[in-house]
Amino acid sequence: MATDIQQEAADQVAPGDEWGTELYRIAANQFDRAGMLLELDPEFVTRLGQPRRSLVVNFPVRLDSGVVLNLTGYRVQHTLTMGPTKGGFRYGPDVSLGECAALAMWMTWKCALLGLPYGGAKGGVRCTPRELSLPEVERLTRRYAAELIPVIGPDRDIPAPDMGTGEREMAWFMDTYSQMMGHSVFEIVTGKPVVLGGTTGRREATGLGVVYVTEAVCERIGLDLREARVAIQGFGNVGAVAAAELYAIGARVIAVSDATAGLVDEEGLDIPAVARWMDDNGMLAGYPDARQVGPADVLEVPCEIVIPAAREQQITAENANRLRCELIVEAANGPTTPEAERILRERGILVVPDVLANAGGVTVSYFEWVQDHQRYTWDELDVQERLRRQLRAAFGRVIDAAERLDCDWRMAALSVAIERVAEAARMRGIYP
Ligand code: NAD
Repeated sequence: MATDIQQEAADQVAPGDEWGTELYRIAANQFDRAGMLLELDPEFVTRLGQPRRSLVVNFPVRLDSGVVLNLTGYRVQHTLTMGPTKGGFRYGPDVSLGECAALAMWMTWKCALLGLPYGGAKGGVRCTPRELSLPEVERLTRRYAAELIPVIGPDRDIPAPDMGTGEREMAWFMDTYSQMMGHSVFEIVTGKPVVLGGTTGRREATGLGVVYVTEAVCERIGLDLREARVAIQGFGNVGAVAAAELYAIGARVIAVSDATAGLVDEEGLDIPAVARWMDDNGMLAGYPDARQVGPADVLEVPCEIVIPAAREQQITAENANRLRCELIVEAANGPTTPEAERILRERGILVVPDVLANAGGVTVSYFEWVQDHQRYTWDELDVQERLRRQLRAAFGRVIDAAERLDCDWRMAALSVAIERVAEAARMRGIYP
């Protein structure tokens, strides 16, 4: 007969189930599949299959009206094996523990694929930033930074921007941490303004990296990028920069979208004009010189390359059959569901996985952190050249693994990363 303690344990949520969200299921399923492909020792399936550490905080923020809002924030660190952890924090109404856990796991693989000395982390605050004033976002950010003090540090866990956050939030975050330490600690976050220890090229890094990877892939598959038609979902930090860079090198960007609208012009959009409209109006809706469609419709426009750069789970079993492109470059994290991926594979549409396609951001974050530690700054050309080299080298590793393991690029990228982290875990052993 079970004792009370055994019964109590049985009644609780099974360990690991607290992560259970759709996005975490996708990340865990990818890990399991890559693990099977690699015939990964079960010890490492156990050690890497779940996040090592998480912090959930509830904290008050006083609104301008005087009303006090209670907000929930998260920080998840997936593995502590590779060095400090690294990953952005996002603001959004559906930020959750499971979402942060999935994104933290992907950060581990991204850093390992690129050979960066970090484990993965991710965080965020569940809130609706567009309903908050600037002073409210500042108070929220400073309080969130203060709440994270027990788990972050320039050699422990280094946050960065993600959806809904940018340079402004990183500056407040750095200042709050520095106030608490009593001196300026630039290296506590990356993605800061240049004047506060940021690096040239960080703001553009993810979008630029998407283009560098796309160039390398196009060379590989014999597609002329300068002749290609491209559709981009999302016009924020990542999507707008990728659009501008593609336009600059002569590709035809025929569709872009944000959360308010999609814009299509088969002859090619005037991206600088679209960006000016965005600056002036804060949204794409209403832009006069293009056909307007729904935000998700741009994925289905006939073209050579689709770049989802908005959010997760946008290409699903529901719309995967309607995509009319040759190549998908995952600038967003987790934009393709496993069910959609199966359909795309059958249809012969290639997918460049997120852990490679959007790794430019964390790579230049790493450059920023190195420069902060060295108190030495690199110039923009230096940053861009090193970024291009690292991304091309990573793509080379993916191609090699795909041939060696006879698998698609996502499984190849994950396999390279998992092998590296498992090897480090094996060498470190288990404490005590
Ligand atoms: P952002 O908040 O700057 O921009 C997101 C864009 O997506 C906005 O234009 C928004 O309007 C649009 N959007 C939101 N919902 C949409 C919808 N349903 N349809 C069409 N557009 C929609 O965020 P970001 O920093 O550009 O991040 C985008 C993606 O890239 C995320 O998945 C993020 O995790 C990933 N990413 C970002 C970075 C980085 O350095 N910022 C690095 C790696 C990965």
